[in-house]
Amino acid sequence: MNRTPAEATAGDGLQPPAVAVPTLRITEIFWSIQGESERAGLPTAFIRLTGCPLRCRYCDTSYAFSGGALLTLDAIVAKVRAFAAHYVCVTGGEPLAQPHCRELLRRLADAGLDVSLETSGALDLAGIDPRICKIVDIKTPGSGEVERNRGDLLPHLRGTDQIKFVLCDRADYDWAVARLREFDLARRCGVLFSPCHGWLPAPDLAAWILADRLPVRLQLQLHKILWGEARGR
Ligand code: SF4
Repeated sequence: MNRTPAEATAGDGLQPPAVAVPTLRITEIFWSIQGESERAGLPTAFIRLTGCPLRCRYCDTSYAFSGGALLTLDAIVAKVRAFAAHYVCVTGGEPLAQPHCRELLRRLADAGLDVSLETSGALDLAGIDPRICKIVDIKTPGSGEVERNRGDLLPHLRGTDQIKFVLCDRADYDWAVARLREFDLARRCGVLFSPCHGWLPAPDLAAWILADRLPVRLQLQLHKILWGEARGR
């Protein structure tokens, strides 16, 4: 009996089931200088995933909350490879909010890339490939999202990972110092103290860190020094 192609695939068991191709919703993929973390200054390919369940008061990437385009993981890796990049940073939004993010991280590492992940402390860090450098943003009271910090982050952090505190004022600083000491964070991984752009003067934060002799790194957002608020930088 002759069948039309539609009949031949309509659940008669003769055709293999369609396999869903994993995709991610992407706001932008671009080539720039890494502006944050211990990798600041390195030429880096950035993959900015769309969407974030948080709403930090100072968010500078709200344009990534919605929109974007669906891309297959193959297409994303191909775009990054076209930059001939050595370093790649997966960021957002909140990249871990999309289920296939972990698979993308693994695929990028398999491709021989040196991969970092920028994530808030609000999502589960389990199951992330150990080759990935995690940069975890612990939300302070000034962010308006302090209640979202998970209590199970520390077991997932390794010496090559980094914890970042974006500080809005002196109260945030005091809160972060208390967390630093309570959990002995500097012995676990790198710790970054970053003044919130436009809220806390960097010289003030530098003076506090020096006065308290903290084992943390003062982080300025290098990309904003270079290019201001320009998007895709
Ligand atoms: S977690 Fe990051 S992307 Fe999400 S609202 Fe906060 S600053 Fe913006």
